[in-house]
Amino acid sequence: MMSAMQQQLDFIAYIQRMLVEGDFSATYKFALLHALADISIEKHHVDPQAKLHITFDELVEKFITLYWHQASPFGSVGNDREQLLLQNTNSKKQAKIITTLHDAKLNNINSVSQLMKGNDWKSIRRTTLQTIKDGPLWLLQKLNGKEECFLYPHIKGQPHITLNAGIASCFRRFYDLVVYLAKNAWLQKIQSIKHNQALIGPQSQLHDFLFGFDRNALTKAKPVLVELQSNSCFYCQKPMKNDVEVDHFIPFSRYANDLGHNFVAAHRTCNNNKRDFLAAQQHRERWQKQNLVLNSQHITRELSDYFNCDADKSRSVSDWAYQVAQANSAKLWLAKDSFEQAADLGLYQHSNVELSLVAESKPSYDA
Ligand SMILES: [Zn+2]
Repeated sequence: MMSAMQQQLDFIAYIQRMLVEGDFSATYKFALLHALADISIEKHHVDPQAKLHITFDELVEKFITLYWHQASPFGSVGNDREQLLLQNTNSKKQAKIITTLHDAKLNNINSVSQLMKGNDWKSIRRTTLQTIKDGPLWLLQKLNGKEECFLYPHIKGQPHITLNAGIASCFRRFYDLVVYLAKNAWLQKIQSIKHNQALIGPQSQLHDFLFGFDRNALTKAKPVLVELQSNSCFYCQKPMKNDVEVDHFIPFSRYANDLGHNFVAAHRTCNNNKRDFLAAQQHRERWQKQNLVLNSQHITRELSDYFNCDADKSRSVSDWAYQVAQANSAKLWLAKDSFEQAADLGLYQHSNVELSLVAESKPSYDA
């Protein structure tokens, strides 16, 4: 068997080749790469070398989440299709997923979770899956016209793909790099399309538009959290007045998806001081207790119209983030200008995960 280190080197080399040699006419392949990386950290792993099943439902949901913001008119208040950024170079044709999601927005659907609960979900799911199958799923791994199935075998006729042994673990190890490369290639592709250049203009907020978070949606989370925390700051525990902000507990810069259980309410000053750091271990324990154990279902009930609410997913993402921090001996934010090292928390981590897995049953997300 190949050594883990050799596989990691091969993985990086492969991703690099894929971005350089792959034939990308639409942006779907970048989305698929991003999706595979995300799903690899969202699913709980017991054995790091195990194969990972990824269902088509998971892929569809992830695709739609990635494209959701992008299916709005760029930098304009209108709702004109002409203002949508084109995501396809081959023709003047828009990428199918963009028109599908834009149409849903015109029908007053305001979030992915609302879309998934709506009447049109079945047909949107079907067409999106078809798009993925016709496009990136079996083409991503075609390099210079030749199939090289390094990530997953091309076994058609099943409702899932299976990442080869060790691949999910490579995605977890190199998540930042892979997502950075995928986003960057995606952004450049969009910038290279002539139609878009007129829309974007010289000074643009293109990156934030494509990959940023929805500040408006955060305001929905605020009252729920303030109540749940009895109006005290999650970090310093002191009372809050008008200076409340919603903080991404696992920073958005580390994992750029809004999960409903990942929010806490904090003083603006505490939030600004924490910036893009991971919070200290004691905060992590309190967050698990508050959001994943005691109030997990309450949060799902209150926020699932606006955010993806899945406590298991949040837990996996946080486990991953703290594992990486530990491997890197990163600084963890404790309080204003005060930090601890992530190096020596191995024991905690395990017992915590076990504790909270027992304390809570799995939410029925797919029902
Ligand atoms: Zn505070």
